[in-house]
Amino acid sequence: MSIRKIRNIGIAAHIDAGKTTVTERFLYFTGKTHKIGEVHDGKATTDFMIQEQERGITIASAAISCFWRDHTINIIDTPGHVDFTVEVERSLRVLDGMIAVFCSTGGVEPQSETVWNQADRNKVPRLALVNKMDREGADFEGCVSQLEEDLDANPVPFQVPIGSGGTFRGIVDLVPMKAVAFQDFQRIETEVPADLLADAQMRRGKLVASLAEFDEGLMEKFVNDQEVDAEDIRRAARYCVQRSLVTPVFCASAYRNMGIQLLLDAVVDYLPSPIDAGGVVGMDLVDLEKPLNRIPSAKVPLAALAFKIIHDPYVGQQTFTRIYSGEMFSGQKVFNSRKGKMERVGRIYLIHAKSREEVERAGPGSIVSLVGLKDTGTGDTLCDPGEPILLERIQVPESVIQRSVTVEDSKEEDGMVRALKKLVMEDPSLRFYVDPETHETIISGMGELHLEIVEDRLRREFNVPVLSGEPLVSYRETITREAETNTRFKKQTGGKGQFAHVVLRIEPNPEGAFEFVDLIRGGNIPREFIPAVQRGIEDTMKRGLLAKFPMVNIKAFLLDGSFHEVDSSEKSFYICSCMAFQEAFRKAAPRLLEPVMKIEIATPDASIGDITGDILRRRGQVDAMRRFRKGAQKLSGRVPLAEMFGYATTLRSLSSGRANFSMEFLAFEPLPESLVPDVLKKIEEQRKRRKG
Ligand code: GDP
Repeated sequence: MSIRKIRNIGIAAHIDAGKTTVTERFLYFTGKTHKIGEVHDGKATTDFMIQEQERGITIASAAISCFWRDHTINIIDTPGHVDFTVEVERSLRVLDGMIAVFCSTGGVEPQSETVWNQADRNKVPRLALVNKMDREGADFEGCVSQLEEDLDANPVPFQVPIGSGGTFRGIVDLVPMKAVAFQDFQRIETEVPADLLADAQMRRGKLVASLAEFDEGLMEKFVNDQEVDAEDIRRAARYCVQRSLVTPVFCASAYRNMGIQLLLDAVVDYLPSPIDAGGVVGMDLVDLEKPLNRIPSAKVPLAALAFKIIHDPYVGQQTFTRIYSGEMFSGQKVFNSRKGKMERVGRIYLIHAKSREEVERAGPGSIVSLVGLKDTGTGDTLCDPGEPILLERIQVPESVIQRSVTVEDSKEEDGMVRALKKLVMEDPSLRFYVDPETHETIISGMGELHLEIVEDRLRREFNVPVLSGEPLVSYRETITREAETNTRFKKQTGGKGQFAHVVLRIEPNPEGAFEFVDLIRGGNIPREFIPAVQRGIEDTMKRGLLAKFPMVNIKAFLLDGSFHEVDSSEKSFYICSCMAFQEAFRKAAPRLLEPVMKIEIATPDASIGDITGDILRRRGQVDAMRRFRKGAQKLSGRVPLAEMFGYATTLRSLSSGRANFSMEFLAFEPLPESLVPDVLKKIEEQRKRRKG
């Protein structure tokens, strides 16, 4: 299969806009599934995991291959819920184009905006689909204006719906200027009906004008009033879409099987192939500063990114991988450049809707599932051992919420830890550790829902009956001024003693995480002990002194010190450094930082007052408000996470169920001084309860 005939796409949407239905219809129409799985039966093919079926949302990005017009379309499932932003990020990393699905009555919801902005940052070319044209109140034009105003997408309708709501019966495809009706999974093309012709011609004119702005050939024809044929438009549109200059807008009723074939055509016609998407850039392992570019060709060395791990009860661990350059074959020895380990590729599969197809080899642009890898985690690079390259890691957001998980029977504990290790390998935004004081296992992640799902999976997939504690905000600790210490550590217990002496200065480091600067000159502390000093600081930072949360944003300077020929050792410098750093931290006006979230709320006008008042009571603020549809506004602002537990329920009652919101981590910000005693007390109580 030629690389030019591959499309790696994602389908992204706000929950309920119809992403799952569109995916299902794609699989059906491409002939890979023979029975349409309706979402409300919980049988959709892409919804791998039970929780997703029950909750009706798609969490994991599974990749499925199907075929259309002699092209392979790999659909990388992209979740719509922002608690899973890491899933969105990782799917955006491996796909070359996206279909953004909007509901014809809901338009641009807050969460679709979040995903859209992520796609912008990743420069992903997009098509927009206005789905559910058969619903009462469907508003194609309204959606197009929202794409313009809210997303700045430069939307250009490529189609016009014929009828709307109950009368939606077909589509005028402006590119070839044909009317299309849909019946029994077939499309029936006819001439554009006379009563629609004038309007359609005007719209086609607009379409051509929008593309001509970026395409000289088309511009010339346009200004000279020459005939512009379908191929002219397709060529210019391909150019514009692939540079994100315009967003073509299509319409459909996925549920009623209307518009699906036209959308599949658009994927093939406008979205980029791996060749169009261009090479991938990685780092040279020897010279980390030197970027390495790998083009999508079978003739260059292998570079591949493992982007998703799924534990499958039948085949075991599947590692979903995108191959950027070179070839991969079963039995091949590849190098995991992130871990510095060799791995053997066992079997290679293409995943179809209802089956797995084993293949011997896979080339650039493909997305495959590998079975047999042992140490490869999400975001790791697999490459040719002779030509190592390190691809950029998938960005993992900060974890902002944590809770304990316990098992009643201590015999289950090993099983729980084993299961958590597997889950962490799948999901880099999940972390866990054992609290040294309470001996409890603490999991942390990106939101309440995220942790709930992890617990669910522990119970069902791994058969570990966990109980969970109440959710707790993950605070951070930092300092607000500089401080210096001069610390000696001395111990004489018969025989050889211990001695170390460290002079340390610390200061706030607002932008950076942690920095260690060694200013020792002339051997006052011997070279070999300096790493122990750094380790002492780093280990101390893992558990802060205010409330045992990680310390962040600190820069430490090792200014001076002294040693003893016989009594000094790495250990004594390590201990001395821990003591010195703790002392300095206490002197440097330490402060708790709390996670603050960016929030977007879409609400009917009637509830704005109540919602804004409630946000203020939660120590939040509303920064902007704008109308996004008749009678409804979109508010955006910021609120501390600590105030947001159970917000979904409150919002429902404030708006009679008509408002919805999305929330995303924004920054760690200082906890107001007046609240510190209360928060410390609450944390202490929670920990005591857990101990007791
Ligand atoms: P997702 O959350 O974006 O994956 O959305 P789903 O595909 O699960 O669809 C949400 C609901 O809308 C389901 O009950 C679908 O049957 C329904 N739905 C999807 N597409 C359409 C459509 O074109 N028209 C109508 N009327 N309903 C649809």
